[in-house]
Amino acid sequence: MSSKESLANLLKEERRFAPPAELAASANVTADAYEQAAADRLGFWAEQARRLTWATEPTQTLDWSNPPFAKWFADGELNVAYNCVDRHVEAGNGDRVAIHFEGEPGDSRSITYAELKDEVSRAANALTELGVEKGDRVAVYLPMIPEAVIAMLACARIGAAHSVVFGGFSADAVASRIADADAKLVITSDGGYRRGKPSALKPAIDDAVSRSPQVTNVLVVRRTGQEVEWTEGRDVWWHEITERQSAEHTAQPFDAEHPLFILYTSGTTGKPKGILHTSGGYLTQASYTHHAVFDLKPETDVYWCTADIGWVTGHSYIVYGPLSNGATQVIYEGTPDTPHQGRFWEIVQKYGVTLLYTAPTAIRTFMKWGDDIPAKFDLTSLRVLGSVGEPINPEAWVWYREHIGGGRTPIVDTWWQTETGAMMISPLPGVTETKPGSAQRALPGIAATVVDDEANEVPDGSGGYLVLTEPWPSMLRTIWGDDQRYIDTYWSRFPGRYFAGDGAKKDDDGDIWLLGRVDDVMLVSGHNISTTEVESALVSHPKVAESAVVGAADATTGQAIVAFVILRGTAEDSADLAGALRDHVGKTLGPIAKPKRVLIVNELPKTRSGKIMRRLLRDVAENRELGDVTTLTDSTVMDLIQSKLPSAPSED
Ligand code: ATP
Ligand code: MG
Repeated sequence: MSSKESLANLLKEERRFAPPAELAASANVTADAYEQAAADRLGFWAEQARRLTWATEPTQTLDWSNPPFAKWFADGELNVAYNCVDRHVEAGNGDRVAIHFEGEPGDSRSITYAELKDEVSRAANALTELGVEKGDRVAVYLPMIPEAVIAMLACARIGAAHSVVFGGFSADAVASRIADADAKLVITSDGGYRRGKPSALKPAIDDAVSRSPQVTNVLVVRRTGQEVEWTEGRDVWWHEITERQSAEHTAQPFDAEHPLFILYTSGTTGKPKGILHTSGGYLTQASYTHHAVFDLKPETDVYWCTADIGWVTGHSYIVYGPLSNGATQVIYEGTPDTPHQGRFWEIVQKYGVTLLYTAPTAIRTFMKWGDDIPAKFDLTSLRVLGSVGEPINPEAWVWYREHIGGGRTPIVDTWWQTETGAMMISPLPGVTETKPGSAQRALPGIAATVVDDEANEVPDGSGGYLVLTEPWPSMLRTIWGDDQRYIDTYWSRFPGRYFAGDGAKKDDDGDIWLLGRVDDVMLVSGHNISTTEVESALVSHPKVAESAVVGAADATTGQAIVAFVILRGTAEDSADLAGALRDHVGKTLGPIAKPKRVLIVNELPKTRSGKIMRRLLRDVAENRELGDVTTLTDSTVMDLIQSKLPSAPSED
């Protein structure tokens, strides 16, 4: 099966959805943005930078004199927190709700922009009192509570870079990130609510900080009220120190290239990398893309991004994009099935959420739980639905549109990475005729294409490697403390181009389809087969909710396809199901893509950000010791899977 034929197969059942007329008629961004950006890319970004309020307007746009080290808007000065908070109050919108916080136990709290300004100012004053200065690093290890946003903005306000570490990571993972960033202060909480119970955070910090001599203070937010160990002189209650601060704080401007944050990648493909982002270019693109891709109308929309603040989606599309745009948003602390599997839809109904941003892993879970659950709630407020994190299977895309979006809403499948800082490839909801499963085309001002092994651009209808051919404002500036790794990882495979590490195809219209990580591509009897395509074929079977596919070494075919499958809520395993699924893939994609083994499992190994870690499944399938599991949600999943897989794969 050539890649061309398999794509044709995948497109056979393709459906297209035109933008709703009403949305198109009043869309924030229309088709001419592509032309304008193509005619003058830098001029386009200079114009978008004017969305922000600068203390000193930049006169330069891009400095690319020392590639791959970019500077954007280098002679401009701004304060990122001022842009996310104060200016909205100054514009008369202080009474607008910035955050509707919904705690897992059912407590809720709404914070206006004026209140947010006071809270961020107090926190900034508190950090200053504790000796944090411009250029320092602060580690943040918090649950999904408003203080996480306030802490990040307080750091930005005083020019300290934050390094947010996902609240579920172990003490070891926190300690290595604190050490790598050389953080001076840590902000944490006693705990947070997860799955109906308070879950402690402070013990991991106590352990991690005992190994981090440079940390002078630990600021502790009280969330659950549970008992905590206390180190006198080091630990400080957040409420005690912030309550006695002034709510006045004058935000100083910083250079556009001043570091804003360090964030470690999810670790799907290996050891996490500490990605450095800076201020002016990052905020420009986070703000523009949030405005364009969600068509945000700050006066009327209620936006909700379900990502955790500990990964990049939480940074760019909970904190910096929406708040710089003056959005009203929902932040939810807990899990989607507490206390019941309709919790998300209950929240959408309660707040009248209009724009929803979530991940394919969540969508597939909702499919698994059943259509009847969202059907119990009023979801008619929704008008744009977003997806991020992994390729979304056409089946899940269509389910999302029908069962959550009532068959009306555009779906924006947004491709980007921790490294890109903001969305890069995505439909525009008022412009694009969408295709389930495709991220479609680079956003205005972004240059992306697909190349072959020799760096030649592939023609429409072919596949290869996704590359970015021009620098962009929110690009990473380096890997923290390791310029050489930055060059080697992203800029060496195809000199002069940014190599994303993802495989992709262009269809006959030139639209881009993401095909999963290059490391995961399988080579079966001389044919390249993408994990995404086989997984999508499996998920298109009515009994399958989710699947992960890997290529395991095989004496005859080079690699053999091994599929791990989770069934939908109502489906039952049966003796002939594995065979039926193999045949289904054979019929959908061709006989070569038929998995050699199909294993029905209850869980898949996922990162904390919800992505499938195929490299671990490959380790199991090839009987190797497991690689880095530090960012895995639940390591017992691997034992269960291991017990399902006999060491020598049998012939069928
Ligand atoms: P690591 O780099 O440590 O392996 P990671 O790549 O999972 O971790 P992130 O930066 O959170 O860390 O994820 C970016 C990756 O997620 C992309 O490179 C791509 O593989 C995948 N991805 C994100 N959005 C999409 C999307 N809309 N379609 C397809 N793939 C996506
Ligand atoms: Mg990555």
